[in-house]
Amino acid sequence: MNAEIISVGTELLLGETINTDAAAVAQLLSEFGINVYWQTVVGDNRARLEHAVQVARERSDIIITTGGLGPTCDDLTKEVVAGAFGRKLVLNREEEARLRGLYAERNSYMTENHLQQVYLPEGCTVLVNDWGTAPGCAFEADGCLVILLPGPPMECGPLLEHRVRPLLEARSDSLILSHSVKIFGIGEGTMEYRLRDLMNEMTNPTLAPYAKEGECLVRITAKAHTVQEAEDMIAPWIERVRQEVGEFAYGVDTENIQTCAMELLMQSGRTISVAESCTGGLVGDLMTNVPGASSVFRGGVIAYTDEMKRQLLGVDAAVLAEHGAVSRETAIQMAERARRLLDTDLALSVTGLAGPGDDGVHTVGTVFVALAAPEGTYVRRLYKDKWGRERIKHAAANHAFDMLRRYLTDLPVEYDEVC
Ligand code: ATP
Ligand code: MG
Repeated sequence: MNAEIISVGTELLLGETINTDAAAVAQLLSEFGINVYWQTVVGDNRARLEHAVQVARERSDIIITTGGLGPTCDDLTKEVVAGAFGRKLVLNREEEARLRGLYAERNSYMTENHLQQVYLPEGCTVLVNDWGTAPGCAFEADGCLVILLPGPPMECGPLLEHRVRPLLEARSDSLILSHSVKIFGIGEGTMEYRLRDLMNEMTNPTLAPYAKEGECLVRITAKAHTVQEAEDMIAPWIERVRQEVGEFAYGVDTENIQTCAMELLMQSGRTISVAESCTGGLVGDLMTNVPGASSVFRGGVIAYTDEMKRQLLGVDAAVLAEHGAVSRETAIQMAERARRLLDTDLALSVTGLAGPGDDGVHTVGTVFVALAAPEGTYVRRLYKDKWGRERIKHAAANHAFDMLRRYLTDLPVEYDEVC
């Protein structure tokens, strides 16, 4: 079974609106193992929409359209699609009553053109829209299942979940399930190299590598008849990938490295503080994104200038003078002083040069991240040359969380990136 998505709207063609509806439809279809071979975007134009529908019905078993179900004269989708399949639009009395009720509730006057929304293809299943005014609809014609959905994502999304999902469930005998092994510390290229043989030999489940900002993942996807069957197919491969990737794999379906590290910290019952320079509070910010952070995160110091590193944290003037703010020694002192000052079990510090200007000593992108613990302080040196300020800051923060994760799981914490 294959499906085609037709998104209707000139604003999509102009790039004014991003086609999030098509992504939402495609995601739902993929859950049912329904292949999407084509996605079409077409403007609010009768002839071109008609053409798109004619092409789609020749090559697809399911056609799902989004947009153009509203009350205005550029909302043509129902009329054109129904027409292409030889269906008339007829006034749906129940939907008319619902629409009139909605306007009465709002105490607003309904102009006649609004009734356009409740003229639906003869014999269709109405997809009642509890999130807006224009209903969606579905009908079968010439062996093709046709589903029409409204454009606003706040309506299209819930209709997909609550109206289209049950329709698909009723006709599908397979589903697709994926799990992702999340990886930090090696790039996509290295990961692929380690897994290439596995990837090539597999068809169901499949393994696919993805690079994300600052980390990567391997998605393992199985097509099966039941969830349990799919889980059983995937489980041994999760183990296999973890073995291949080793200590760089930090979780399965875990949201991100900071969630992973913070959850480990909460389980350990230890407290933490931060001392940040070039990340400007980002590490603390990311910590507080994780629910329950207040049970472990006590606070931190943003010490951007040398003076503040001395005054607020008590970093030795001699250390700053001898090694500079961007140095292993300063990072160590920042973390140790924060740990003492905020009376926590652990502390993370970040000091670096995010550029674009340099300090005459270090390469832009040089960052030191330290983790102070009761038995000593660990440091990692990073080189993120030419990455740009924001990416360097995020990379540094992610490394801080990776150090924490490794510390809490008894893995080696320190390593230096080579310039
Ligand atoms: P309405 O009743 O609001 O007119 P409609 O079903 O006629 O709904 P459109 O008029 O095509 O839908 O689009 C309404 C709004 O929904 C657009 O302004 C746009 O912001 C958003 N929209 C439409 N199509 C998409 C899409 N494919 N992805 C994301 N947003 C969309
Ligand atoms: Mg509209």
